[in-house]
Amino acid sequence: MPRAGHNAQNHGVVMSENIPVLTIDGPSGAGKGTVSRIVARRLGWHYLDSGALYRAVGVAASWANLDISDPAALVRCTFDTEVAFREDDLGDLRVWVNGVDATDELRLETTGAVASAIAAFPEVRSALKERQRAFRQAPGLVADGRDMGTVIFSDAQYKVFLTASAEERAERRYNQLKDKGVSVTIAGLLREILARDARDAQRTVAPLRPAEDAVLLDTTGLNIDQVVERVLALVSP
Ligand code: C5P
Repeated sequence: MPRAGHNAQNHGVVMSENIPVLTIDGPSGAGKGTVSRIVARRLGWHYLDSGALYRAVGVAASWANLDISDPAALVRCTFDTEVAFREDDLGDLRVWVNGVDATDELRLETTGAVASAIAAFPEVRSALKERQRAFRQAPGLVADGRDMGTVIFSDAQYKVFLTASAEERAERRYNQLKDKGVSVTIAGLLREILARDARDAQRTVAPLRPAEDAVLLDTTGLNIDQVVERVLALVSP
């Protein structure tokens, strides 16, 4: 495996394809977000939460009362929607959509379902492509999503596919939401997770699947620290 930053210079200009990228893909609730953020911080690399972009477009579309089955309207909305990632005073990442802090709304399961529905349109996926690739900046990028290793950064130096049993993912999501005071049931979350997995895996464009050169990491029974260490070991063996 190439070392991060190795051979990154070309006549003094850093070529974007030489900037190291670690892609972390997998189904919802596999721990990608938490693991990716910690790994990015430990490496001192940038972080792309690509799911937040799909969620942001979904939220902007519902604020504008758009028909979310109309791809042309969604593409216009995708180009018109401003998304900014900012750390708050506690170091937590907040997501601003068209100038509004939409972090809490973005996290809702209903927003995830809308994101998953609009993400099935090839037009929306392609409208978000360049925006995602623009995150590839020195000294490196950790990119979290569904198609980071297969489509958006198919030339990434490091690729991981995180999985966990659906039951464990539902339980983790339950604990996260419970801590935030959101009232949900594990059974309800499990149903939603299975439905979203099925939709993400069965869509014709960029279906959820590991890249051929991705390292598969089943996180069932592992805690966050153990997963972080295993992912970091791939980048700095
Ligand atoms: O990762 P997150 O749960 O925030 O993503 C929300 C939805 O956005 C996913 O269920 C998936 O349908 C879609 N998505 C995608 N491709 C990505 C990231 C997210 O299709 N790279």
